[in-house]
Amino acid sequence: MRIFLSVVLSLSPALCLAATESRVLQAGATRLRVDVVDVDDPARLRMLQRWIEEVAEAATTQSGRFPLHQAYVRIQQTDSNDPSPVPWGQTRRGGEVGVLLYVRRDASYEQLSADWTAVHELSHLFHPYLGDSGRWLAEGLASYYQNVSRARAGMLDEDEAWRRLDAGFRRGEAASSSVRLDAMGRGRGGTMRVYWAGAAYWLEADLALRRDSGTTLDALLDRYAQCCLRGGDSVTPQDFVAALDEVAANDTFSALYRRYAAMRAFPSVADAYAQLGISRKGDGLVFADNVKTRRLREAIMAPRRQSSSIRWEAPASSPSRP
Ligand SMILES: [Zn+2]
Repeated sequence: MRIFLSVVLSLSPALCLAATESRVLQAGATRLRVDVVDVDDPARLRMLQRWIEEVAEAATTQSGRFPLHQAYVRIQQTDSNDPSPVPWGQTRRGGEVGVLLYVRRDASYEQLSADWTAVHELSHLFHPYLGDSGRWLAEGLASYYQNVSRARAGMLDEDEAWRRLDAGFRRGEAASSSVRLDAMGRGRGGTMRVYWAGAAYWLEADLALRRDSGTTLDALLDRYAQCCLRGGDSVTPQDFVAALDEVAANDTFSALYRRYAAMRAFPSVADAYAQLGISRKGDGLVFADNVKTRRLREAIMAPRRQSSSIRWEAPASSPSRP
């Protein structure tokens, strides 16, 4: 269910009464408040803080800042039967912008680190609210970066990240729906097409920028975050891609947008795979071993060896009741 929940919902009253441990992560001039709700065990609290620090670092922009000047992550433990360590996540945009993560009470650090949900949700902070017609763009961006950012952070093997992207594309291809992509609702049948056609859009845009403009999706999202992004804003998908084009000084995003939004079938990833030296073989992938395609794959997925750009702003405060 977690993939359906990037919507504005209100907190339950019970949640608001819980004891909350708040600390702030700082990246340059940007701040991410980390609220952990109702965790009495200090070791578990530290583990959850360490995990979210690593997730937050993975979801920084290219220049090492958070996409928003100010946002929060709220971690709430849950006794879900869902096998996922993070059964539920959602992005909230009413008032202060933030991400809610519901973590299984027995989830270990290793299980949490191996899960994609938190990086997916934090990647939603790279874009404003895009409405129902832009849902595929929003979910596509988060689905693309849940693999790319984790591979770069060393949370996911590089080749495995390509395989997971491909597995998403295959799920999207298998979805039976002939509705225009920008008119797809929230029904189960079309969800995989919405998420992974959206991810294909961002992959194709990234490749076009690298090939034709000597820039990258990372660089443009970073510049967009600095000039234009306000996470609580509602922006039409057309205006969002136009703003990215303005930053890029070309029309890559809008041209691709017009093509994708009108699609009634899953986009072909054949051209993208040819550029990347990736081919499908059975359920798996084969990676071409030539310098040009390997360098392109590495430019997108290879682990980054830069020093940490984030730090905790203040020592742990005593539990408070907000
Ligand atoms: Zn999402």
